[in-house]
Amino acid sequence: MKNKTEPVEVGCPKRKHAEIIYLPKEEVPRCPKCKTQMINFRLTGLLPLTPS
Ligand SMILES: [Zn+2]
Repeated sequence: MKNKTEPVEVGCPKRKHAEIIYLPKEEVPRCPKCKTQMINFRLTGLLPLTPS
């Protein structure tokens, strides 16, 4: 693997809000509203929030 950052869409599974972070530079944050651990939608295959 190369040491390269990649934009990843993560989001709160409860409230469905999302944000972009850069892995592996940043860690997947907790939701600022409900404190749930946010998930990587690309990895889970759940809820693609940005239509393509
Ligand atoms: Zn939340």
